Amino acid sequence: MIPYGRQSISDADIEAVVAVLKSDYLTQGQAVPAFEQGLADYCQVPYVVACSNGTTALHLACAVLDLSAADRVWVSAVSFVASANCARYCNAEVDFVDVDPATGNLDVVALNNKLQQAALVHALPKALIAVHLAGQPCDLKEIGTLCRQYGIALIEDACHALGAHYQGTPIGSCLHSDMTVFSFHPVKPITTAEGGAITTRNQALAAKLRLYRSHGITRDPQALLMPSPGEWYYEQQLLGFNYRLTDLQAALGLSQLSRLDQFITQRRELARRYDELLTALPVQPLQQHSDRQSGYHLYVIEVAERDQVFARLRAAGIGVNVHYIPIPAQPYYRELGHDLAAYPGAHSYYQGAISLPLFPTLSHTEQQQVVHALDQAICG
Ligand SMILES: *Cc1c(COP(=O)(O)O)cnc(C)c1O
Repeated sequence: MIPYGRQSISDADIEAVVAVLKSDYLTQGQAVPAFEQGLADYCQVPYVVACSNGTTALHLACAVLDLSAADRVWVSAVSFVASANCARYCNAEVDFVDVDPATGNLDVVALNNKLQQAALVHALPKALIAVHLAGQPCDLKEIGTLCRQYGIALIEDACHALGAHYQGTPIGSCLHSDMTVFSFHPVKPITTAEGGAITTRNQALAAKLRLYRSHGITRDPQALLMPSPGEWYYEQQLLGFNYRLTDLQAALGLSQLSRLDQFITQRRELARRYDELLTALPVQPLQQHSDRQSGYHLYVIEVAERDQVFARLRAAGIGVNVHYIPIPAQPYYRELGHDLAAYPGAHSYYQGAISLPLFPTLSHTEQQQVVHALDQAICG
């Protein structure tokens, strides 16, 4: 089976992890701050907080906004469920915004309409979580402008989009948002096995993210609320978590980060090859905007008779996938009163979506196999 995604681990990656194993600190050493600094440099952003995975990164981002049961959070209707669950961990009410079926990204017209309606009945959300689906940045400028206009915090779920660019700046720079969240799961642009990070330009948010990441505890003399009786002293100032990344993972992450541009180049070339190879077939790849550069985490096509084509591809040994079942269609969210029928863009996107295998080490021969199998699957 050709998988839809997989990691690429080099000898240098392995040596970086082994070096930490032989050192004094397996966790809470120097590798985590070094990885955070590497990400900060790459993303052109002042603050980075690394944590245990993308889901905990999203939870931390929600926690530092002090979300509670009194608040609403809006989320792109097409994403992995973690994009919405993070708000539920804080007991906030989740609602969804429809997507453009041509990209799977947030539909700015739908967002604008929903904001106008919500403002009339005083039901505006406290935060919006916008997803960069498949690695292509969403309409950040327009979305950021709307969020500022209505006083809403903007979190970018960039779990697909490390290495992507929007109007010349790297995703993670937070030029239009409050925080950006990354995942380093093995299928994502770089991996630490499990891992995640939040970037921000806001110093106070960064300090609070660090506090929440580690039990709500600080030892920083500047940050203590009470006088310190001695060097042992620390304070728990809020109810935080243990969402830390280990130094083993951070060392792998820093080594992988040095390979990110190469990975993105390989993914872009493979995507361009798919574009060419697929022109003869009745399929529609996701539309790409010319003012942004996708990281091509996924190569999604829209195809008629998706279920049948999918089954035939799997039977032919092609590890296709569907990203994603729209979140409002999940039983957990249906139980909370949501209904996919309210999101025609998400429904239409989902009907035809298939993710073809795409990862840096996918060979041209494998790619031809995929396209041949797809041709057969469509023609029956
Ligand atoms: C992978 C992913 C997450 C969750 O990241 P984990 O590291 O697996 O917890 C969240 N949102 C999106 C869009 C993702 O693709």
